Amino acid sequence: MADLVVERPEGLYCPPGEFYIDPWRPVARAVITHAHSDHARFGHAHYLAAKPAEGVLRARLGDIHLQTLAYGEAITHHGVKVSLHPAGHVLGSAQVRLEHGGQVWVASGDYKVAPDRTCAPFEPVRCDVFITESTFGLPIYRWCPDDEVFAEINEWWARNVAHSRASVVACYSFGKAQRLLAGIDPSIGPIITHGVVDPLNRAYREEGVALPETRHVTEVKDKADLKRALVVCPPRAVASTWLRRFGADAQTGFASGWMQVRGNRRRGGYDRGFVLSDHADWPGLLQAIAATGAQRVIVTHGSSNAMVRYLREQGLQAGAFTTEYGDDVVEADAQPEEGA
Ligand SMILES: [Zn+2]
Ligand SMILES: [Zn+2]
Repeated sequence: MADLVVERPEGLYCPPGEFYIDPWRPVARAVITHAHSDHARFGHAHYLAAKPAEGVLRARLGDIHLQTLAYGEAITHHGVKVSLHPAGHVLGSAQVRLEHGGQVWVASGDYKVAPDRTCAPFEPVRCDVFITESTFGLPIYRWCPDDEVFAEINEWWARNVAHSRASVVACYSFGKAQRLLAGIDPSIGPIITHGVVDPLNRAYREEGVALPETRHVTEVKDKADLKRALVVCPPRAVASTWLRRFGADAQTGFASGWMQVRGNRRRGGYDRGFVLSDHADWPGLLQAIAATGAQRVIVTHGSSNAMVRYLREQGLQAGAFTTEYGDDVVEADAQPEEGA
């Protein structure tokens, strides 16, 4: 039986459907798993994405030709039945289910299985072939429940308030920033967001995700508030003069799955590292793969060699696709691109 998804220079391609999934070069028809910049790129003639992704996609890509599907809703294109299912990664993130000629393939995009207040939970979808990410596909990656991480952030913030110094948390502006805002305790002090985070917050709020009140730094009238604030910004801002307005004693933290690796925090020059990821950890990846019932698994990005080896040892047919994905690699380098 012919494969439903193959590699092409433009990206992952469905030959019978004549469309791409998260292509990295401009194409006629693109199915987009989510609005992170390595998956949703400029220049496609036609985009298909999950309905809750519309606002964040437009916030990032502007006026694109976009068709949306509710989660679980199916359309048939050139005989391929296509439906989108929650991936639990960020608002609007979807796994793409393809059915054709008696085969079912699912392309996961990025995903996590842990709960997240800001997006629909990951839905296991049965399939013959599962195309999975593997960003944190090594046994060393095991996340704590996120409420423990939020408690750690709250404690740090409250202690900084007691010492009249700002708490600056760097994180990915789309997804991580909103999850952090929805998770922390807003009664501790004022919350200030960087301008790059604001349009994403707006899109989340318009989609009905509850976020605490946030202010732009220019809206803060009482300068004492700056010293009590939790400041949410991209890593780039921590390394810039933007940080100075919060005073020389501002404390800095970085929220990312990469903070689990010793040395990453210091390399980035942060006072604190908070292990908070929007990707599945090692047990999460294995749990998601097992739940699909797939006998064949194709790994797209991350620690693909280790994952492929492990899956083969478990008796599965496993391989890898070479892709240009990897938004969390950008996080690790602490050099996020504008708006990402
Ligand atoms: Zn992503
Ligand atoms: Zn990604």
